[in-house]
Amino acid sequence: MDRDNMKDDVLKILTERTKKSYEAYEKAKEIIPAGVVSRGRLYPPYPFFVKKAKGCRIVDYDDNEYVDCATSYGAAILGHCPSFVVEAITRAAQVGLNYCMPHEGTYRLAQLVVQAVPGAEKVTFCNSGTEATLHAIRIARAFSGKDMIAKFEGGYHGDHDYVLVSAFSHPEEQLGPLTDPHAVPDSIGIPSKTVENTLILPFNHPAAFDKIKKYKEKIAVVMVEGLQGAGGCIPVKKEFLQELREVTRECGVLLLFDEVFTGFRLALGGAQEFYGVIPDLATYGKALGGGLPAAGIAGKKEVMDTIAYTGDHDKDSKTRAHYGGTFNGNVIAMAAGCATLEYLIKHKEEIYSYLNTQGKRIRDEINKFCQENDIPAQAIGEGSIFYTHFVTGEINRTRDLLRANLKAQRSFFLHLLKNGVFIPFMHLGMISFAHKEKDVQFVIDAHLKALEEVKEKELKMGVR
Ligand code: PMP
Repeated sequence: MDRDNMKDDVLKILTERTKKSYEAYEKAKEIIPAGVVSRGRLYPPYPFFVKKAKGCRIVDYDDNEYVDCATSYGAAILGHCPSFVVEAITRAAQVGLNYCMPHEGTYRLAQLVVQAVPGAEKVTFCNSGTEATLHAIRIARAFSGKDMIAKFEGGYHGDHDYVLVSAFSHPEEQLGPLTDPHAVPDSIGIPSKTVENTLILPFNHPAAFDKIKKYKEKIAVVMVEGLQGAGGCIPVKKEFLQELREVTRECGVLLLFDEVFTGFRLALGGAQEFYGVIPDLATYGKALGGGLPAAGIAGKKEVMDTIAYTGDHDKDSKTRAHYGGTFNGNVIAMAAGCATLEYLIKHKEEIYSYLNTQGKRIRDEINKFCQENDIPAQAIGEGSIFYTHFVTGEINRTRDLLRANLKAQRSFFLHLLKNGVFIPFMHLGMISFAHKEKDVQFVIDAHLKALEEVKEKELKMGVR
């Protein structure tokens, strides 16, 4: 990025006020590929570097303060650094960090998950959403004796090869028919043999049921998100999810809800409580650890018992799937998870009604403004989650976003940042319980201002 040759006003403003971040970024790039440790953190002109975060605010190296609607990609459901979580991890650290042996924290967090999640009869822990889906797939394959997995176009389930397929946006000509999508790897480096075992289904479309029926003898598990997060914040239709449950049950195929994002967010019991549909398995991450890396797999006893070892290694290796990890159930993440879930359970009514009301308020205000001002954009989402897309018409699946005005969209995110609201670039936004009504109003005002600014620039020129 050539800082001295910046034509765009908004980029100019952003670079002028983030000089220290720029220096840090230039230095980081020399020894960290791209200067960031996760792809989504890089965006124009360059990422701001964070000094601190508390509640709903995040502060960069140059002391710019933003209302944070990234909320640690959903992990900070109660905001950054709630005092009782910090106290819990400080207390826990007095007796150990990681034992690699069972302890009170794993049992307590399991109890809380079982209490909070309707379909959780048994639960186990790991460290990230990616690990959770990786392990859950092995459990499903071992349980069913089948190799194939099915996921939806636009569904994101972490960064391992089996699921990094047709999650992101691809050119239309690669996608295949709407009703029978092709499997398109989302990265170079994914072996084509791996992709052969991943079947892609059309999201929110009944043709998915025919495909499941056709391949039922081969499919171990169907994975679905209650809201396609990385796919563009697209909620699943309730009737679709209900029928998916019926069809998978009839076909003898396991159903997995990937609740890494929706878990403890749409409702205390996640998408399964929100939509009233209970899967066989579910994966968790993000909010489960309240800001620390805790993730988990929960589900029906008979499925989860695929990893219930007896201790007889010879017998277990024939009848049980492998499950392991050095940091699984580490003391600090379990303590943060317990403090967070205890709070969420105790204040369930107040928290979820607040989060979901405020999320709807943001979406409604944006949509009203777009309609009144003839702006071809709309906010979609569910609960506390929202995304403004520069496209009109119904959005039921990622293909409906192919028509979006991406130039306007990119510019919109930069304007939001300029207006003091941080949402990761081209990503959805969320609020936490730490966003008070005045903070939500600030978020709304920043959105409306950004819409106006984009209308003045990109939309006037009619460019795509
Ligand atoms: N599944 C879903 C639905 C997610 O949203 C994410 C993360 N965005 C993951 C899996 C992967 O989780 P992690 O980043 O913790 O590996």
